[in-house]
Amino acid sequence: MLPEHPAFLWRNPEPRRRYDVVIVGGGGHGLATAYYLASLHGITDVAVLERGWLGGGNMGRNTTIIRSNYLWDESAAIYEHSLKLWEGLEDELDYDLLFSQRGVLNLAHNLHDVRESRRRVYANRLSGIDAEWLDADGVKEVCPLVETGDHVRYPVLGATYQPRGGIAKHDHVAWGFARGADRQGVDIIQGCEVTGILVSDGRVQGVETTRGTIHAGDVALAAAGHSSVLAELAGLRLPIQSHPLQALVSELLEQVLPCVVMSNAVHVYVSQAHKGELVMGAGVDQHVSYGQRGGVHVIEAQLAAALELFPIFSRAHVLRTWAGIVDTTPDASPIVGATPVDGLWVNCGWGTGGFKATPGSGWTYAHTIATGAPHELNAPFSLERFRTGALIDEHGAAAVAH
Ligand SMILES: Cc1cc2nc3c(=O)[nH]c(=O)nc-3n(C[C@H](O)[C@H](O)[C@H](O)COP(=O)(O)OP(=O)(O)OC[C@H]3O[C@@H](n4cnc5c(N)ncnc54)[C@H](O)[C@@H]3O)c2cc1C
Repeated sequence: MLPEHPAFLWRNPEPRRRYDVVIVGGGGHGLATAYYLASLHGITDVAVLERGWLGGGNMGRNTTIIRSNYLWDESAAIYEHSLKLWEGLEDELDYDLLFSQRGVLNLAHNLHDVRESRRRVYANRLSGIDAEWLDADGVKEVCPLVETGDHVRYPVLGATYQPRGGIAKHDHVAWGFARGADRQGVDIIQGCEVTGILVSDGRVQGVETTRGTIHAGDVALAAAGHSSVLAELAGLRLPIQSHPLQALVSELLEQVLPCVVMSNAVHVYVSQAHKGELVMGAGVDQHVSYGQRGGVHVIEAQLAAALELFPIFSRAHVLRTWAGIVDTTPDASPIVGATPVDGLWVNCGWGTGGFKATPGSGWTYAHTIATGAPHELNAPFSLERFRTGALIDEHGAAAVAH
């Protein structure tokens, strides 16, 4: 255990020339992986290499929705494991994450939505996940601001409700994991871009970076939207497309929205941050891009959708908009596990919904790297599934985004 550094959350050490494990990407998933490698597996000779600053990628750009009500058993298991970790995370990291289990509504606007949503509620209950089906009156009770009248273009016929879902403050989560990892000896190195992956005889040897060559026993990619760029450095082609995903916040308002509201059909999701901004996200911009910006037409459609559900927000002003680059897979499920290169691991494909998975992803990835084999929770999420066809189609639950 290293001494605490009261003035800083973590040290900023010079990179050493060799580590047991090098993690590429200082977003939530990379930092959580480093933390659990150290705390659960005693592996502390670890560096997290981040080309920008910690949490400057999707980790600091997401709309922070947390839930575990995915359809298939495999997804429900890994997201529920993550939610359980969230429930003890503030104590574990001794850090205020503003984790708030205020509940998540997923609205249904037509008969198809109703059938799909109820099916998901039944599946979730079988997996031990808190899931309820609410009719329109039930929705109004949980969230009085949602417009449920018959006259609206997309009438609210009901919703799934997960009371344990909610939000957290994303940058606090990155900092909490970073501090926890640093205190156990992990080197967190910002401003260090990986530009090459060294492979010989089918085994990874280390990485080339803008701060010199760093050798490593294992190299673990956790680079979200840039995963396919990195994998290509080792000659691998990942089944990933990278798209901009936009979000926005309003000016600060009194606290009026008691829970998270999502709608796949109307295509928007809304929550209210502790500070008071309405936080809204949309679907991905359709074009493939690495620019962290998207088209105004998407924002326009997103706001039109939000006003369908919440006419009361019509006079709120947009404060700012932004985008992150999300890594989407053909089945809308993540990839966590081995690659054809020995000692090179991949954790990506969380797409529009990986914030909620931050602790669970780091926990399972750390297990995989430490033991050389996947945990049963992430075994189904192998790269192999795109060859065998054992896909885990979560387009329904991931839908509009996460
Ligand atoms: C607008 C938006 C809204 C979202 N809303 C939600 C939500 O409400 N709920 C939810 O669950 N999920 C949501 N997500 C998805 C979630 O943010 C991501 O799935 C998750 O953050 C990805 O993991 P990460 O935090 O490790 O990624 P990142 O924070 O993107 O980390 C990857 C890091 O790798 C670094 N990197 C890339 N290339 C290199 C290199 N060559 N060398 C070194 N470092 C490199 C990047 O700089 C970056 O910091 C949203 C995403 C966006 C963009």
